[in-house]
Amino acid sequence: MADTFDIVIAGAGHNSLITAAYLAKAGYSCLVLEARPVIGGDTMTEELTLPGFLHDTCSTTHAIFMQSPIWRNQELPLADYGLEYLLPEPVSHVRFPDGTYLTQWQDIDRTCDEIARFSRHDAEAYRTMLTEWQSVAPIFNKARYTPAGWGMSTHQALAAHPQGTIWMRRQALSAWDIISAAFEDWHVRAWMLWFAEGTLQPAARPGTGTLAYSFVAGRQRNGWAIPKGGSGSLPMALGRIVTDHGGVILTDKPVSQLIIEQGRCVGVETTRGEQYRARHAVVSTIHIKNLVGMAPAEAWGEGFLYGVETYKAGRGMFVAHYATTEPPRFTIDGGMIEAVGAGVAQSPENQLHHDTFFRNGTISDERPTLLVLTPTVEDAARAPEGKHLIKVITFHPYELRQGPEHWDTVKDAVAEFNLAELRRYAPNLTDETILASDIRSPLDLERYNASNWHGSCHGGDQDPSQSELLRPAPGFAEHRMPIPGLYQTGATTHPGGSVTGGPGRNAAMVILKDLGKDFNTLLP
Ligand SMILES: Cc1cc2nc3c(=O)[nH]c(=O)nc-3n(C[C@H](O)[C@H](O)[C@H](O)COP(=O)(O)OP(=O)(O)OC[C@H]3O[C@@H](n4cnc5c(N)ncnc54)[C@H](O)[C@@H]3O)c2cc1C
Repeated sequence: MADTFDIVIAGAGHNSLITAAYLAKAGYSCLVLEARPVIGGDTMTEELTLPGFLHDTCSTTHAIFMQSPIWRNQELPLADYGLEYLLPEPVSHVRFPDGTYLTQWQDIDRTCDEIARFSRHDAEAYRTMLTEWQSVAPIFNKARYTPAGWGMSTHQALAAHPQGTIWMRRQALSAWDIISAAFEDWHVRAWMLWFAEGTLQPAARPGTGTLAYSFVAGRQRNGWAIPKGGSGSLPMALGRIVTDHGGVILTDKPVSQLIIEQGRCVGVETTRGEQYRARHAVVSTIHIKNLVGMAPAEAWGEGFLYGVETYKAGRGMFVAHYATTEPPRFTIDGGMIEAVGAGVAQSPENQLHHDTFFRNGTISDERPTLLVLTPTVEDAARAPEGKHLIKVITFHPYELRQGPEHWDTVKDAVAEFNLAELRRYAPNLTDETILASDIRSPLDLERYNASNWHGSCHGGDQDPSQSELLRPAPGFAEHRMPIPGLYQTGATTHPGGSVTGGPGRNAAMVILKDLGKDFNTLLP
């Protein structure tokens, strides 16, 4: 096999595979080098506990990706390659500490009826919020699938919208500012906060205002959309598109060095000293904190290095996977309910207070807010007959006062604490129903995938200092790195983390432009 390709791509998460798929479709020979034994990164489905139990190690829902032009317009023919999405009903079932609950249904009227049990005013406020969001959602979605710095900024697009000035203010406010002003009942406020913090942003932080709308609206529209077969179905389909267009994907190839000749990045070297050269471009999805160590400091320049030095990880995730004989069965009036997307929302005060544990580097000892995902409620084939997969998620700091390694001592106790909270509402999850478990702290998630740097499961914090034109570093948002020939994609670039495909598609647009090709000619 030739070790020179048109494009060499380091890392095989869904974003870099999307970049590879567009470039291969454009006729370029592409080589993808993945550090792990399998492709997919944080879109991974594997037998973590017992044979036949296909857990999503990281992401489970692809609700944002479903709104991407990649999927919606089948720019990449993923449906032909077997990718299929399931839209579970109910959308979500959330419990409150006083034993009450709120179920979200695909039918908005039915969801509003649920909210009205707490407050008629809040049911109407919910309906109004979703209607208002629909009028600006295309602006934010377009920004996600446009390289930062190309075309109109979100600010300019809002300025041209009839309610644009209102939305500029909403964008700058915190999600909590908006939720507390719109809703009167504490359960509904707690429920809205539970959604708003879903992308790991603290809801009281200025600049999170649109998260009061976007996450809940996405769920109301697409539900807890899950790929049939698991999150790994996406990279599997992408990988086949790449190879069917002549691309080559090699696993167990951790890249450790960039090859720089005459000031230009012309290839990469792996930890075993293998060299792979690129005629046109090297594309990285290596976390930028790790990438800067792969070339001499002078190659990056002071401005970029400062941008990387000041880049923050943000909140970390803590994940417990269980193989069980039953799904969580939540007791409701007149029976039981099972749901793919479920959770526990503590009071607003409790949820907002959680931020202090991040600041102090401590693990909360207060009753936890939980996200509980049980994909087998909808996709039974992912476990042996009648069995289930449950994932329980909480957010915690990676940097503990005692050091991140302290996680190895305490993680089992944290998982037990979270499980005890879940059992208050789903008492069927006894020791007898749990067959096996796999517990992953923020430190474990980093060990699993180097791109989860310091537990940054979304590539890094998404505060205003690390968003749009400032991501990953001011002056380098357009995927072009300071070293000519080197491009960056993945969650450290605009629009950031989550399964969106945005960074991957945007990087392909920039690279094709630099190669003198029109991206639009690739569209169906
Ligand atoms: C526990 C958890 C739950 C999540 N849940 C959701 C969810 O339900 N929905 C959602 O939308 N998002 C979720 N996310 C976030 C989302 O999964 C990620 O933001 C997204 O998948 C990142 O994709 P990516 O392609 O940018 O990078 P990654 O998926 O991180 O891929 C990067 C790839 O590069 C490889 N790599 C790194 N360094 C090297 C190197 N030196 N050499 C070669 N290869 C290298 C890695 O092994 C990896 O395969 C979750 C994340 C976590 C951790």
